[in-house]
Amino acid sequence: MAGAKDYSNKQVSDNREQVEHHVREILKLIGENVEREGLLDTPARVTRMYEEIFSGYAVDPRDVLGVTFDEQHEELVIVKDIVYYSQCEHHMAPFFGVAHIGYIPSGKIAGLSKLARLVDAVSRRLQVQERITSQIADILEEVLKPHGVMVVVEGEHLCMCARGVKKPGSKTVTSAVRGQFRQSSALRSEFLELLKR
Ligand SMILES: [Zn+2]
Repeated sequence: MAGAKDYSNKQVSDNREQVEHHVREILKLIGENVEREGLLDTPARVTRMYEEIFSGYAVDPRDVLGVTFDEQHEELVIVKDIVYYSQCEHHMAPFFGVAHIGYIPSGKIAGLSKLARLVDAVSRRLQVQERITSQIADILEEVLKPHGVMVVVEGEHLCMCARGVKKPGSKTVTSAVRGQFRQSSALRSEFLELLKR
């Protein structure tokens, strides 16, 4: 995935031994035998995974967009099906899905792969889906100053599947609209229609 491996959570690497220690303690507290073979390297593996899945903290999402200029194109730009993986901040359980971004440039555009980097930077943290959605919209609005932005995020939450209400397969859909998308239902419909293709 674009940008996913380019940076990692340095705070985790700098405190590797402590993080491993605490993972080991949790394993003991759930009743595990931390000396058995399958678990010997688990604290180290979890720590390396944290470097990656929490790599969003290492970057300011505003900086990943790599803005370029194009005065010509002031029509709808859509990048859809951008896969993301995140961790729900309530349970530290994974949720994942796809994000769809549409915007109408007013001179500044972002490289298409940079939109995927933005999604990574925002989602590789402890998050809630609603905030991922609004942060993507707000950052695009702030950095590109487009005529309008619409973001739709779909997500499947393991904390909904594996625990609590236990509803596997249910999907959460969130959206955020800014600028012209807020005023024009025709524009919102055009965006949603193009997502279906
Ligand atoms: Zn949760």
